[in-house]
Amino acid sequence: MNLILLGAPGAGKGTLAAYLIEKMGIPSVSTGNILREAIANNTPLGQQAKGFMDAGQLVPDGLVIDLLKERIAQPDCAGGFILDGFPRTIPQAEALDKIAQIDCALSLEVSDEVIEGRMSGRRVCLKCGATYHIENNPPKTDGVCDKCGDAVVIRKDDMPEVVRQRLATYHKQTEPLKDYYGKQGKVKAIDGTKGIRMTEQAAAEALGIN
Ligand code: AMP
Repeated sequence: MNLILLGAPGAGKGTLAAYLIEKMGIPSVSTGNILREAIANNTPLGQQAKGFMDAGQLVPDGLVIDLLKERIAQPDCAGGFILDGFPRTIPQAEALDKIAQIDCALSLEVSDEVIEGRMSGRRVCLKCGATYHIENNPPKTDGVCDKCGDAVVIRKDDMPEVVRQRLATYHKQTEPLKDYYGKQGKVKAIDGTKGIRMTEQAAAEALGIN
């Protein structure tokens, strides 16, 4: 199955993707994680993306479309994939439609107010991309990633002013995708405010995999 996770930044796409990877046995592709890794390694892609990301803006379509195409052409995506954070604009969705058949767009519904509260507690491992929340989903050892042992930190773009900018960007450029996939009859909406386990269960039910 080729699945898209739709939802505002901080809606819980990364956390849900981690569950679905295990449950469905297919990889997730997070363009945000790929870009953060490129920045950490100071690659040309990272250098081009950094300013946009730090400001809470989207990285230009051309850059992300190219990196996504390259990623889903890898052998591990041949049996299906979960997209977390892509597409984020209509041109990205159109480009994706040309290279892959999307089966379902799972939309995680969470209000801006809840998101602003969540983002202040969010922590991420810059090495492996695992995400945590200091109250709802803390790592076993404070500040240390359960999966790879690297440091768990606050993302620069999780600062309150940047979060507000990212939400504005989301409403303007990404939310119209619900309509785009709705017209194709592919959207399944789930409530993302009821806690991690309930969200996972709702997703499994929506996908018919429980
Ligand atoms: P995320 O980790 O998905 O919240 O992404 C963090 C940041 O990376 C976003 O605020 C954007 O600046 C950039 N980014 C990630 N995915 C995309 C995308 N599909 N299109 C444009 N920019 C993206």
